[in-house]
Amino acid sequence: MDKSIATKNLNDLITKVEAARLRVSEHHIVKIVGVSKYSSSDDIKILYENGQRAFGENKVQDLKEKSETLDELPIEWHFIGTLQKNKINNLIDLNPTLVHSLDSFELALELNKKLEAKNKKLSCLLQINSSYEDSKSGVDPKNAIDIYKNILSKCPHIVLKGVMTIGAHSEDENEIKKSFDITKNIFDSLNEYGAQYCSMGMSKDFELAISCGSNLIRVGSTLFKV
Ligand SMILES: *Cc1c(COP(=O)(O)O)cnc(C)c1O
Repeated sequence: MDKSIATKNLNDLITKVEAARLRVSEHHIVKIVGVSKYSSSDDIKILYENGQRAFGENKVQDLKEKSETLDELPIEWHFIGTLQKNKINNLIDLNPTLVHSLDSFELALELNKKLEAKNKKLSCLLQINSSYEDSKSGVDPKNAIDIYKNILSKCPHIVLKGVMTIGAHSEDENEIKKSFDITKNIFDSLNEYGAQYCSMGMSKDFELAISCGSNLIRVGSTLFKV
């Protein structure tokens, strides 16, 4: 990716995010995670040089390779993909800033056990399948609050910081909005339990997600397009 394209991509994104967040409130702050899963370490570095600090990967092996290649940069790494049980130890060893994709109580128990063995803690979001699509991971919205509380009480090595969802796969904006509203309602109910992040919104729907209350967006293709 050319440096001038990276600058333009990031500026365009920030301009849109800024406008969208101000439509919510001047106090509504939105954090951007650059999803680098289809991009090279060189491209990540170019965006870093333009000021982007947080990046997300969806495979443990890719996170390992890219974070090692870019070891000298103080990048904040996020993990956003489905976590397989046999990759848990590898992920813990990479010390990601935030795991967005804790998608079942069973996985939380397993993760907690491995964190305990390593005497470590890990910040996570509970992923919610707000669109009820079989292809998507996450807990059923109806059970989300109970599962969140169970993780808080049974998994002391997991630092739960909020919720994540992927918007409905639809051309109908109302369908997408519905999945964001469901997630935001759960997030609001969890406020008293310390939830800080409502991670929702990707390249195609981040403005809608912000209008629905997202404060953490995960943007890949728009940011890395050449
Ligand atoms: C790939 C991915 C994104 C980014 O998607 P884009 O449409 O490229 O912005 C965000 N979140 C998750 C969980 C992803 O897998």
